[in-house]
Amino acid sequence: RRPARLHRSFVFPKGHAPSKYQQPIRVMQWNILAQALGEGQDNFIHCSADALNWAERKYLILEEILTYEPDILCLQEVDHYYDTFSPVLASLGYYCTFQPKPCSPCLEVDGNNGPDGCALFVRHSRFLLEESMSLQLAPATLFSNQVAIVQKLRCRDTDQQLCVAVTHLKARSGWEQLRCAQGSDLLRILEQATEGTHIPLLVCGDFNAEPSEDVYRQFATSGLGLDSACKLLSADSQSEPPYTTWKIRPSGESCHTLDYIWYSRGTLRVDAVLDFPTEEQIGPNRLPSYNYPSDHLSLVCDISFHEEPDRLQ
Ligand code: NDP
Ligand code: CA
Repeated sequence: RRPARLHRSFVFPKGHAPSKYQQPIRVMQWNILAQALGEGQDNFIHCSADALNWAERKYLILEEILTYEPDILCLQEVDHYYDTFSPVLASLGYYCTFQPKPCSPCLEVDGNNGPDGCALFVRHSRFLLEESMSLQLAPATLFSNQVAIVQKLRCRDTDQQLCVAVTHLKARSGWEQLRCAQGSDLLRILEQATEGTHIPLLVCGDFNAEPSEDVYRQFATSGLGLDSACKLLSADSQSEPPYTTWKIRPSGESCHTLDYIWYSRGTLRVDAVLDFPTEEQIGPNRLPSYNYPSDHLSLVCDISFHEEPDRLQ
């Protein structure tokens, strides 16, 4: 029998009492693990092939999404957009957008289901979709296979605009400079899209970079005034979680913090953040597993608009 799902709880940052006037916006960021990569390339040596069977795994991915009911859902490594995520999430009331990678590694796997890419899903009952841009990042570099989606939304409750971006930066060590070039390109586009920081911004992604990397520093110190939501889980609100992905390959364990939800700290606030499962909950074979369908954990938080925007921060 399949073990119980990982139990996770929301943490409410001190001094962030929920607004009386706004229903928070629930945001979910998740690299769901492309089916073709999980089966054909990743080589998760302690994960049983059965746990990667798409016929079941797709329901575990959907169960995770439906458990948290995000208003804004940002996914990476989506290689079942047309046959699964778009029809299911459209029927549940989301605007659905997909941007495949120009040269997805999924296409090299026998029996693949097409390219993987980033996908953005926005709950229609909470937002109007005003503008959508799909981008290839740093196209001026020799070859850049990474993409982003940037959308301008209008919150139906408050009539405020919100700009949302989803991305998946270049993986692996040795590619730090390309990640930086991709990060700079995205920041430049976001400066334009937010009209000089007037529009609150959310950037969700698998940055494939630890907090010690330059691309992380670029986002943390940019003129856009961004902060990372999951830092609020730490005792001093200054540290990222110890891991957002944890897997075992032939080269050994790979336990890293690579995924982030960035938000404009002057105009948005974080009301709650979903904690991360413990090492014990994840188990000795790490991820993915029978009870968790991806090697990356989902990041979930509730945000709301500052009632008195402080643009000086
Ligand atoms: P990335 O290096 O960004 O990684 C692709 C995927 O591999 C990611 O989803 C990543 O997952 C995963 N991954 C990371 N580390 C490992 C690992 N150790 N073992 C297995 N998988 C891993 O790839 P690109 O997007 O840059 O694409 C590379 C592909 O592009 C190649 O397959 C190549 O064929 C093609 N290519 C084509 C060119 C052309 O001109 N046509 C030129 C260059 C490349 P995660 O993000 O979760 O870490
Ligand atoms: Ca991956």
